[in-house]
Amino acid sequence: MVQSAILGFPRMGVNRDLKKATEAYWGGKISQADLLAEAKRLRLAHWKIQKDAGVDVIPSNDFALYDQVLCHIQDFGAVPERYTKDGLDSVDQYFAMGRGHQKGGIDVPSLEMVKWFDSNYHYVKPTLQNNQTFKLVDSPKAVVEFNEAKEAGIKTRPVLVGPVSFLHLGKADRGQTVDPIDLLNKLLPVYEQLLVKLKEAGAETVQIDEPTLVFDLPAKTKAAFKPTYEKLASLGDKIPKLVFTTYFGDIVHNLDLLPKDIYAVHIDLVRNPEQLETVAAALGPKTILSAGVVDGRNIWKTNFKRAIETVESAIQKLGKERVIVATSSSLLHTPHTLASEKKLDPEVADWFSFASEKAVEIAIIAKAVTEGPAAVREQLEANAKSMQARATSSRTNDPKVKDRQSKVTAKDHERLSQFPARIAAQQKKLNLPLFPTTTIGSFPQTSEIRVQRNKFTKGEITEEQYDKFIEEEIKQNVKIQEELGLDVFVHGEPERNDMVQYFGERLNGYAFTTHAWVQSYGSRCVRPPIIVGDISRPAPMTVKESKYAVSVSSKPMKGMLTGPVTCLRWSFPRDDVHQSVQAQQLALALRDEVVDLEKAGVDVIQVDEPALREGLPLRSGKERDAYLEWAVNAFKLSTAGVEDATQIHSHFCYSEFQDFFHAIAALDADVLSIENSKSDAKLLRVFVDSAYPRHIGPGVYDIHSPRVPSEQEIRDRIEEMLQFLKPEQLWIDPDCGLKTRQWKETKEALVNMVNAAKFFRTKY
Ligand code: GLN
Ligand code: ZN
Repeated sequence: MVQSAILGFPRMGVNRDLKKATEAYWGGKISQADLLAEAKRLRLAHWKIQKDAGVDVIPSNDFALYDQVLCHIQDFGAVPERYTKDGLDSVDQYFAMGRGHQKGGIDVPSLEMVKWFDSNYHYVKPTLQNNQTFKLVDSPKAVVEFNEAKEAGIKTRPVLVGPVSFLHLGKADRGQTVDPIDLLNKLLPVYEQLLVKLKEAGAETVQIDEPTLVFDLPAKTKAAFKPTYEKLASLGDKIPKLVFTTYFGDIVHNLDLLPKDIYAVHIDLVRNPEQLETVAAALGPKTILSAGVVDGRNIWKTNFKRAIETVESAIQKLGKERVIVATSSSLLHTPHTLASEKKLDPEVADWFSFASEKAVEIAIIAKAVTEGPAAVREQLEANAKSMQARATSSRTNDPKVKDRQSKVTAKDHERLSQFPARIAAQQKKLNLPLFPTTTIGSFPQTSEIRVQRNKFTKGEITEEQYDKFIEEEIKQNVKIQEELGLDVFVHGEPERNDMVQYFGERLNGYAFTTHAWVQSYGSRCVRPPIIVGDISRPAPMTVKESKYAVSVSSKPMKGMLTGPVTCLRWSFPRDDVHQSVQAQQLALALRDEVVDLEKAGVDVIQVDEPALREGLPLRSGKERDAYLEWAVNAFKLSTAGVEDATQIHSHFCYSEFQDFFHAIAALDADVLSIENSKSDAKLLRVFVDSAYPRHIGPGVYDIHSPRVPSEQEIRDRIEEMLQFLKPEQLWIDPDCGLKTRQWKETKEALVNMVNAAKFFRTKY
C-alpha cells in the first residue's frame, strides 16, 4: 500500500483563531491557560481534518505558538541569557524571543527574524554563543504533542528541524564569533535524547527537516551531514525511523550528502519534478522515496493525472513498498480551507485547493496508485474536468494580452536617451536643489482613514463622499509637505489598503478571497490576491488621485506604483504559465499607467520593487541569472515608455544587494531609494566601485520605530554617505514609507531631515 503523508498543516485555524488568542493573551485579555487550551483545541481540530480526509501520515510538532524554529531554540536550551535572567515563565520567555518584551521593568528586544527560504514566512534565527551549551528540556514539545495526539487516538509523525539545518540557519549572537556549525558535536546529543524519548512514547517514524540541502552549502556544512546521520543511524532501533526531508528546491547538487541507510528521503517534486530520476537512483537499496506532488506553496487544485504519473514513475523505479505520496512541503504556506470563501465566483473557486482540500487530494492520489484509478474514478474525472475548464476558460486566456506580449520588442525596454541627457532634461523641468528631499510614498494611515474606508466598503458612505474624503487627505498631506519644505512631494497613499491588493483589485486577471490568510510571522497573516488569468488594465488605477495631488501642489509631485515583480511575488501566482510571462503582463499594465500619469502632468514616478530581492532563486547559477533577466526586464518595460524629462524612481526596502548589484544597476532608474539607516554606510561602496552614474537616496533614518532622529544624527549619516556618493547624486529620504507611523513623530523627524539637507546645501 502506498501511504499518503502531510508535512505540516497551517496553525492559525479556520478564523485565524490562533492569531486572536495570542494577541488577546499579549493584550492581557485572556490567561495563559486559556491560550494554551486554545492552542490544544486547534491542534486537535487540525489532526482531525487530516484524519477525516484519509491521510495516513499526519504530522505533529508542526504547530507553534509563534514559530517552529523558536520552539526548537527553547526546547534545546539555546535561549540567550538576556531572556532567562529575569525569570519569565517559559511561555513569556518564548514570546520575548519572538517579539521582544517591554513590561514590568523588563526590556529586551526580539531575536532576529528572517524569511524562511524563498517564502513569505519568517522564522526566528537561532542566536548562538561562543560557549554555547545545549540541554533538552524535561518535557520537549515534540513528545508532549505526540502524546496529545495519541490520547486522541491519532498516531502522528513528529516533525523536527534537523541538526545541520538548525545550525546552518542560525548565527552567532552579537559580539560572538562562533560559526554555528562548529557546535554540532554539542547539539547532537540533544537530538539523540529527543529521538529516544519519541521512540519510547511510541513514535515509529520522525520527519527530520534538512531543507538547507537545497542550498549551495559551505564545505564545513556539507561535511556535517555524514557524521550526523551516521551517528543517528548507529542508535538503531532505539530511535524512530527517520524521514530525511527537503523542499523548496532540488538536491541533485548535494546528492552525495544524502544519508545512505536512512529510512526515507522526501523531495519536492512540484518545484523540481526533474530531480526524481537522479534522486531515486541515488537512494540506498531499501530507502523509501517520499514524493512531494501536492503543492505546499500555492492554492491550485492538484492536477491528478500529472501527480499520479509522477508517482507511478517513482513506483516503477522503486516498487510500491518504497514510495510515499506527500505534500511538496508543509502546508503552512497555504490558507486553511476553501470552504470559508463564500464570495468567490464558483468558476474560479473550482480551480483552488487550500490546506484542508489538499489533505483530501493527497489521500485520493495514494488510493489511485495503490488500488488503481478505478477506485477513485469519480474524483479523477471531476479533477480532469476542472483542469480542462481552467485551461480553456476565458478568464484564464485573453488573446489580446497574448497578442500584445508577442509584439514586445527589445526597444520597448529602453528609455529614449541615456541618463546624462535624461537628467539634464529632468533638471530643467524640476529645478531641484542639491540634496533634494523626498519621502517614499505613504504617510500615516490614521484610524480616521481606516474608519472611512470601512464605511465605504460597507456601503455606509457613497463613492463620492469617499473620494471627497481622500481628496481632503491628499490636500492636507500636500500642505504638511509644503510646511516641512520637502522638495518632491507624494500624495501619501491614503486610498491604499495594501500595496499589491490595491492594484490587483484594479486589474483583470486577479481573484480575491475573504479568509485565505497565511501566516507571515508570529500572529501576522497576509491574504495574497490570486492571479488567475492573463492580466490587463481595464482603466487607469492611480491617475485620479495623482492628478488631483498635482493640482493642489506647488512642487513636483511623485506618482506611486507597485512594480511588476512585487505584484507577482506578493500574490499567489499562476502555475500554468511561467512567472516571467505573468511579470511581463503586469509590466505592460503598469507601463500604460506610467504613461497615463505622465500625460496627467506627473513628472516624477516611483515604481516600488521591495520584493525584487526575495524572488532571487536560492542557488546562484543559471536559474538565478534567468530570474534576474526577466525581473529586470519587467521593471524596465513598465517604466521605459516615458519622455526623457520624466523622472523614474524606484525603491527597495533593503540594502544588502552586493550579490545582485548589476541587476539593480540594470534597472536604469533615474533615482533609487534604498534602506540604509540600519546598515553600514560602507555598503554604499559598491556604488563607487561600479562608478554608478545615477542618483541614490539611501534612507537616512529608520521608519520602523517611533524614535525621532536628531538633526545631528542625520547630518552624521549624510556625512558618511558623502564618503561614497557624489553630492550631486545624493537624495535625502527616510528608509521606507511612513504608513505605520503617527503624525507627531513623522513631522518631527522630517523637520530634522529637511534641516540636515539644508545644512549640506550651504556647504557645497
Ligand atoms: N510606496 C510604498 C510606501 O511608502 C513603499 C512601501 C514599501 O516599500 N514596502 O508605503
Ligand atoms: Zn520600503
